Amino acid sequence: EIQREAILAAIDNVAARIAEEKSYLTDLDSAIGDADHGANMNRGFQAVVEALDGDDAEEMGPDDLVKMVGKTIISNVGGAAGPLYGGSTMLASAELEGGITAETSVAFAETYLQKVQDRGKAEIGAKTMVDALVPAVHTYKKSIEQDDLPPLTALSKAVDACERGVRYTVPLRARKGRASYLDWRSVGHQDPGATSTLFILEELLETAE
Ligand code: ADP
Ligand code: MG
Ligand code: MG
Repeated sequence: EIQREAILAAIDNVAARIAEEKSYLTDLDSAIGDADHGANMNRGFQAVVEALDGDDAEEMGPDDLVKMVGKTIISNVGGAAGPLYGGSTMLASAELEGGITAETSVAFAETYLQKVQDRGKAEIGAKTMVDALVPAVHTYKKSIEQDDLPPLTALSKAVDACERGVRYTVPLRARKGRASYLDWRSVGHQDPGATSTLFILEELLETAE
């Protein structure tokens, strides 16, 4: 069915992009962390591609497919990013029961952000993935619910907002995660998790176009 194919194509594109950006993400993490974000994300998404290749995936609806993505990330990615990416994806996947529509995709995005913040306790400005996610999710929701834009246009605006969020992390002093150990020395560096969030959204847009 169409949505299944779209999800699988999106996963393939995200996994390929993460593989491509592996050393860049690791460089960003070596400046303010422990130089493993690229490897962590790549291990996770390669495992996701393999998991979705199996027969189990054949019978699954969009919600269960996305849930499996989250579960696979949790069990293959350690550190801070694994539970944040994987756990939030898993928990938000329930919003996609009955398929992916403009409405359910907004619910998914909002729940995903909520779960990241529930678990990570990072507010905006702490120099984390939240700084990329908040503008992306709010822009997506507003574009659909208030401006009545088609989902693809909304997603494109969300990617732009996300990109601004990533740039906004550069001058910030880290308040959460490993980078916070560096305190003021984290200033001037772009956050790795915000950056990988942008890459994922860019690939979702690319797939949807
Ligand atoms: P680790 O820091 O455990 O090595 P990664 O390097 O894979 O894990 O991921 C680091 C990224 O995780 C950071 O760049 C940041 O975006 C994100 N992160 C860390 N802690 C938090 C948190 N409490 N809330 C939100 N995001 C966080
Ligand atoms: Mg790290
Ligand atoms: Mg680590």
